[in-house]
Parts: sequence; C-alpha cells; structure tokens
Amino acid sequence: MATEKHFKYVVLGGGVSGGYAAREFVKQGVQPGELAIISKEAVAPYERPALSKAYLFPQNPARLPGFHVCVGSGGERLLPEWYSEKGIELILSTEIVKADLATKTLTSAAGATFTYEILVIATGSSVIKLSDFGTPGADSNNILYLREIDDADKLHAAIQAKKGGKAVVVGGGYIGLELSAVLKMNNLDVTMVFPEPWCMPRLFTAKIAAFYESYYTNKGVKIVKGTVAVGFDANANGDVTAVQLNDGSVLEADIVVVGVGGRPLTTLFKGQVAEEKGGIKTDASFETSIPGVYAVGDVATFPMKIYNDVRRVEHVDHSRKSAEQAVKAIKGKEAGEAVPEYEYLPYFYSRSFDLSWQFYGDNVGETVLFGDSDPSSAKPKFGSYWIKDGKVLGVFLEGGSPDENSAIAKVAKAQPAAGSLEELKKEGLQFASRI
Ligand code: FAD
Repeated sequence: MATEKHFKYVVLGGGVSGGYAAREFVKQGVQPGELAIISKEAVAPYERPALSKAYLFPQNPARLPGFHVCVGSGGERLLPEWYSEKGIELILSTEIVKADLATKTLTSAAGATFTYEILVIATGSSVIKLSDFGTPGADSNNILYLREIDDADKLHAAIQAKKGGKAVVVGGGYIGLELSAVLKMNNLDVTMVFPEPWCMPRLFTAKIAAFYESYYTNKGVKIVKGTVAVGFDANANGDVTAVQLNDGSVLEADIVVVGVGGRPLTTLFKGQVAEEKGGIKTDASFETSIPGVYAVGDVATFPMKIYNDVRRVEHVDHSRKSAEQAVKAIKGKEAGEAVPEYEYLPYFYSRSFDLSWQFYGDNVGETVLFGDSDPSSAKPKFGSYWIKDGKVLGVFLEGGSPDENSAIAKVAKAQPAAGSLEELKKEGLQFASRI
C-alpha cells in the first residue's frame, strides 16, 4: 500500500537550498518529526558547484561525504546522520510528480503522499537539452549534461572511457568554461563552441572575455565562436562521433557536454501560484501568493531591494541565503516576530584552471577595466567596475585575495560615486580598498 505521511514542514528539493533550510530550521528550533526534506536525488544535500569543478579533477577528486552542505560557506558539514540525529526525515530518491496546494498534498512517482502545513519549494533548475529542440542526433550516447551528481558520475565515466579523446563543449557560459577547463585537465582534446561573440556574455565585457579566451587558448582549449551545434553524427553503437555546426563545419567528438542554460523547475505549481520572470513570485520573506507556501533558490522571483526590482537568481549564494531567510520568516511568523528584510547583494563566482573570479552587484552601465589582464602573466590580477548614473554598481575581480574580494563586495553595496573614469582605471583596486 502506498504510504501517507504528514509533516508540519516539508522542504521539496534536497539541493543547496534544501540543506541550508534544514540547518536554519534546527537553529530556529524544530521538534523531531516536524520536518521532512524530499528529494529526487539519492544523496543528502550537497554543494552543487563542486560538480563542475573538483568532482571532475583527474587527481584527488572531491567525493561525498566531503562536500555536503554547509561546507561551501565555511559551515558545519551536514552528514546524513545529522538529519536523523535532529529528527529530520530525509526522504531521498523520491520524485514528487503532483503538488496540490489546495489540499496541501504532494504525491510521489511511487504513489506515496505527503501532507504538510508549511511547504518550502526548493526544486532548483533542470538543464535545457538539445533534444528539447529536436536537434538531430542529440540523443546519441556520450552527449552529456550536468546538473545532479548522477550526471557528474556519467561524465566522469565518459572521461575515463575516452582517455585522450576529443571533447566538444557546447555553450560558453560558466558551466561551459568550467567544464572545458576540467576536461582539458583530464587530457582530452577540448573544443568549446558557442554562438555569441565572446564567452559569458551575460556578465563578461568583451575585454574580460578576451582574457579568459586567450588563457584557455594558451592551455590548449580551442574556441569556436559565433556558431551553434545543429546536429550530431553517431556510429553503429549510437555513440556520438561528430558535431555539425551551422557554418557547415564538423568537429570530431568522443564526448559532447552541453551547457546551454537551465529552466527553473516550477511545472508542478503552474496555475496554482503566481509567477513572474519565469519563476515563482515571492515577497521579501520568500512567501508565495499562497500563504504558507514559500519558494527559495533558483525558482524564486523575489524583491531585490537594493535595485528596487524583482529578480530571479540562479547562484549558490542566493540559494543559501534565501533558504535561511524563508525559514527565519516561517519561524518568526509563528512567534509573532518580524524578521529583518532580505538585504541581498548579487554575488557570483567561478573557478577554473588556476583562475578564480568573483563578481558583486549589478553589471549595468559603462565599464572600466583595471589591473593586469595579460593572460600570460605569472599571476594575472584584474577587474572591472560597472558605472551607472555616476555610481559604481558592480565590480568583477580575477585573482583577488579574500580581503580584496571583501573590498569589492563593499563597493558594490555602498555604490560610491565613481568620479572620472580615467582616474578609476588608474586607481584600480585601490579605489575599492578605500571604501
Ligand atoms: P538545487 O541545488 O538544484 O536543488 C534542487 C533539488 O530539488 C535537487 O536535488 C533536485 O533533484 C530536487 N528536485 C527537483 N524537482 C524535484 C521533484 N519534483 N521531486 C523531488 N525532488 C526534486 N552557482 C554559483 O554561484 N557559483 C558556481 O560556481 C556554481 N557552479 C555550479 C555548477 C553546476 C554544475 C551547477 C549545476 C550549478 C552551479 N551553480 C553555481 C548554481 C547553483 O548550484 C544553484 O544556483 C543552486 O544549486 C540552486 O539551489 P536550489 O536549492 O535552488 O536548487
């Protein structure tokens, strides 16, 4: 018989937000048996960014339990035992296929039902697949994507099986850049393909991108820009052998990794909850249009106070902080206490090869590049300011120390007057250190 269970609080999704929500529930006080985390994945919440980085390293790769949450933000590592010690039910390998917000009931693929008083939606995103667009040959073997740990295991197995082979990375965003680097570190012959004029166009300026493209080229990664994959060839076993590009050229491939973006997983709630900008609309406490239902992480479109705007953010720092904010709000409401407003400053980062960058704020307006952006320097350190209406709104820094990264965060938060752009360029990081 299918099981039926009731919990006071259910977090749907055992990813980054799910794990940080659990920790916050414990901090705020939760009784054994009150909280369940339901997740499609077979493992306890972990720091997802590791999957495109240390998880795929050729030497000493990261493996669970090493990177369970909350180690990514310097916190305690929550092992599966932690959840049982705290009386939190971790319901793994369980996909919810139906959510009825009116009756407060979730139904799993196996027919189990879970009822709740308070629901936190933390379902994250799914990857966009080329087969979604009917790209010919896109279902061939060894055309891979990366979102969950199972995907990373498949990619790891393909890297082992195709040692010294050819890899094509489709997509020039941060996933494409991180994966190209790690595939190269595994001694594959790597080509990156993307349609835009430069990599990471949603954040990088042409000048920032020029540094990374040259650095990657120096490492032996080939970059093909301004074209897209329009089809794949496969052999008699169904294994991919080549990528056809829309400029008519063909790239041989033993492995193809596609990183062309994600979609927030909101389908279970369509028509039941207000949506905006592709996500589930929330207030500053991450409560949705349905009282008692919260949405956090990648799926939430929330008021971003600092820019007087509503936005959806697909980055790990926000997934952690939004989960904590929602739980504080839930517990605050129960206690009749107001919680401080969500003061979120956008923060993204990436690491590849021996590079590491951070970005804080908003990438709008004019830009000023500063520092040493020579890709052949022994230790390149450079950055960019974004200036709008005379104020510095965003800062990017490659190769910064912890203190320098804190300094750029302070700038993005304080939004100081920029003065002359020439001066700003000359001053470079000194400007940030003065704020
Ligand atoms: P997720 O962490 O994706 O968790 C969602 C969970 O919900 C998953 O476990 C999923 O299986 C589960 N789920 C979904 N639907 C159901 C269902 N119907 N039933 C049951 N369970 C369900 N951000 C950065 O800022 N810097 C980085 O360097 C960086 N690197 C990344 C590298 C990779 C490979 C990926 C995929 C993402 C990276 N990100 C990075 C983005 C960051 O990891 C996400 O923004 C963050 O994980 C979002 O947290 P979340 O809890 O909303 O979703």
